[in-house]
Amino acid sequence: MIANPVPWPNGARCAVAFTFDMDADSILHLAHHTSADTRLAAMSMLRYGPEIAVPRLVELYKRFDMHQTFFLPAWCMERYPAAVEAILQGGHEIAHHGYLHEHPNELPSEEELYWLQRGIDVFVTMTGERPRGFRAPTYKFSRHTLTHLVNEGFVYDASLMGDDVPYLLENATGRVVELPSHYALDDWPHFMASRDFNYFMSIKPPRQAMEVYAAEFDAMWEYGGLWVAVWHPFLSGRLARCVAIAELIAYMHTKGQVWFARLDEVAAYVQQLTQAGTWTPRVDRLPYYPGPIPELGEAEPTLAR
Ligand SMILES: [Zn+2]
Repeated sequence: MIANPVPWPNGARCAVAFTFDMDADSILHLAHHTSADTRLAAMSMLRYGPEIAVPRLVELYKRFDMHQTFFLPAWCMERYPAAVEAILQGGHEIAHHGYLHEHPNELPSEEELYWLQRGIDVFVTMTGERPRGFRAPTYKFSRHTLTHLVNEGFVYDASLMGDDVPYLLENATGRVVELPSHYALDDWPHFMASRDFNYFMSIKPPRQAMEVYAAEFDAMWEYGGLWVAVWHPFLSGRLARCVAIAELIAYMHTKGQVWFARLDEVAAYVQQLTQAGTWTPRVDRLPYYPGPIPELGEAEPTLAR
């Protein structure tokens, strides 16, 4: 079912990464710049992430002796240093998720680079090192993102959805490892309900979402894939959902032969296999198209309406 399965370490059947994007209130300021300060209920829902959920998740991981990856907009690192401290103290990785959750593919290349570098500066100041990984906010990876990541020394990206196993992104500037996920493993479609974001998923029992995640895991376990959850502390870190996550982790442990890893560890392992010639990842050359396809002409086509 997977054409090129990865020989995961120590005979593991699959690799598992619970990644959390700690967006906190950055997304509210971005969506409602002039009125975010008046939206206190939404603010409290989002602040629950760094203040309540992150310490809870760090504690949960400690119980299972797991080290995982958190993606943080650098502005959130500045606003919530205690969360940063808790994540680092737990032995987890912090990776780059924009400065203020800006959308790279809606920005000119130089502005995208400005925010990326401004974020890196915060990482260096607060963690003592540059980030190794990047996830584009809202998956909005741009035509220029790969070039900026290569030039800034990133090892991996975790924004795209092009495979069940790691692969490489390549252009004339260089390469990074892509660690893909997809919407079924994101928690917004399962849990997000907010008037301020005009986004309403029907409320359902946490275990219903866990059934989807577990089905994805079972398939990855069977065929040798990489399972990457794209979750948010303010959504999946709520109490009942967190209890369900603990049950999911316990299920994975019971099944066994699972490599629980930080994404920087997965990326380093892929590089190691590639260099040794033990396994050769697929390569995606970016961008996929130099511009809009010519078949429809330059105007907005009536065909699309
Ligand atoms: Zn995000």
